[in-house]
Amino acid sequence: MNPFKAALHIQIFFALVVGAGIGLFFNPGEERLKKDLVFTLKYEQGKIVIAEKDVDKKGNEVPVVPVVRLSAQQYSRRYPNLPDLEKWKDAEKPPVIKVTNRHYRLIEDARSIHVTYRRDYNGRPVITTEKVKTGKEIAEKYPLFTEGYERYRHSWSRLVTVVSKTVGDIFLRLLKMVTIPLIVSSLITGIAGLGDAKRLGSMFGKTLAYYFVTSLLAITTGIFMVNLIRPGVGAILPGTGSVTTLGGQQSLGSVFMGMIDNMIPPNPVAALSNGDFLSIITFSILFGLFIVSAGEESRKRMTGFFQAFFEVMMGMTMFIIHLAPIGVLAFITYATASQGPEIFGTLAWYMLTVFLALLVHAMLVMPLILKFVAGRSPWQYAKALSPALMTAFSTASSNGTLPLTMTSVEKNAGISNRVSSFVLPLGATINMDGTALYEAVAVLFIAQATGGFELSLGTQIIVAVTALLASIGAAGIPHAGLVMMAIVLQAVGLPLEAQGIIIAVDRILDMCRTTVNVWSDSCGCAVVERLTRQE
Ligand code: ASP
Repeated sequence: MNPFKAALHIQIFFALVVGAGIGLFFNPGEERLKKDLVFTLKYEQGKIVIAEKDVDKKGNEVPVVPVVRLSAQQYSRRYPNLPDLEKWKDAEKPPVIKVTNRHYRLIEDARSIHVTYRRDYNGRPVITTEKVKTGKEIAEKYPLFTEGYERYRHSWSRLVTVVSKTVGDIFLRLLKMVTIPLIVSSLITGIAGLGDAKRLGSMFGKTLAYYFVTSLLAITTGIFMVNLIRPGVGAILPGTGSVTTLGGQQSLGSVFMGMIDNMIPPNPVAALSNGDFLSIITFSILFGLFIVSAGEESRKRMTGFFQAFFEVMMGMTMFIIHLAPIGVLAFITYATASQGPEIFGTLAWYMLTVFLALLVHAMLVMPLILKFVAGRSPWQYAKALSPALMTAFSTASSNGTLPLTMTSVEKNAGISNRVSSFVLPLGATINMDGTALYEAVAVLFIAQATGGFELSLGTQIIVAVTALLASIGAAGIPHAGLVMMAIVLQAVGLPLEAQGIIIAVDRILDMCRTTVNVWSDSCGCAVVERLTRQE
């Protein structure tokens, strides 16, 4: 088989394997510091001082990592493993910390050098990560690591990390480039394309209610699973080393006010140029709705224009998605070269979480809705829909599957065209249970991996609401959900770089979530048919 002519998902799979191989081979590994250390915590002018020191080659005492001075709150948040402050203040002597199991890793990309230093404080793991600009900075801040850096600087590993990160970043930039025009055109076309304003009656309300309820159920399942399995705890992802605190301190009221501020743009043009996703989505939905209610002539023109616009954007996006094998190759190479083999363990738990949550939604929640709300046998319905579901799985595109979904729903499941022609096209654009669930799991996974990030109830609610909006905004094409994730990350202040690594396994997850998206749209037909039968 020629891998260059194979289907995209095969190419991506191939890239994944090859990239992982290259990355593992060129993984610079960790440098070990053999000697164990001992130091004492100090309390100076109301701050806790953590000064881990060692002796360099010349016999001088130097700090291993820059000395930190922390308030009590920062201390307990950043070092949950260190001795409890309250007990310590009462005690006679300050606590002694024994430092064992010391490793450091230096990874360079085109922009900076990432320093990771792992060690145990009294047997509990503590990690320091920092991005520095130059080798000189390493010599100043981490004098003990200069030797290792010199070795790495002259190795093939450095070339591999620099090149793969650069190529991966270019791919990510391309994806970001198409995001906004794609959302705008896909949403407006989806809503305006419904045509006849009279059809937007009670069916519209019921359909929207169905979309909303099922997406929220999916998100809840996702959030439940990610909190249960906690795949991100202890995982090290690119960009998640820094301590970010947001959401944790905010009250629920201010969270919602902030969302409303974000959702209603005082200036839609500025929102477009700033890339304020939430504002763009609201404006596009309203715009689409008002196209439908505009006069015949204007409606036709606008619908035609946005359809053409959408087609062009789809073309552009598909072109970029064809570069995915290269992007994936670069990402997985960088990931494995910079993280070592441990990264697969991290991603395995993450993938498992997404799979399980999708499974619960598709095989438990949806069948219950089918049975009790739509009055249909879930098994029969799934059988009727199987061509569409399998196509969704292999193409990872709700839009691409739409013709098949419509035929299966009408011909095999006996749903009227009145319902299917309304529920399905709109659903392909805005009702994505699988994507919504996935956004929530992925972002909470990144949040769990981010040291010091607080996963308060407020934060989780923001994640849930933005995941819903992200799924509404995502186009029904492969990897659209990944592109939209920026919204959710942005909303809670998480680093966008962390997305880099999950791209590596996005295709397979995309196939699964798209199947769930199409499944939910199809079940929606049965529900809306039942609820509007009397009309
Ligand atoms: N590929 C998905 C779909 O077409 C969207 C996504 O990327 O989540 O439904």
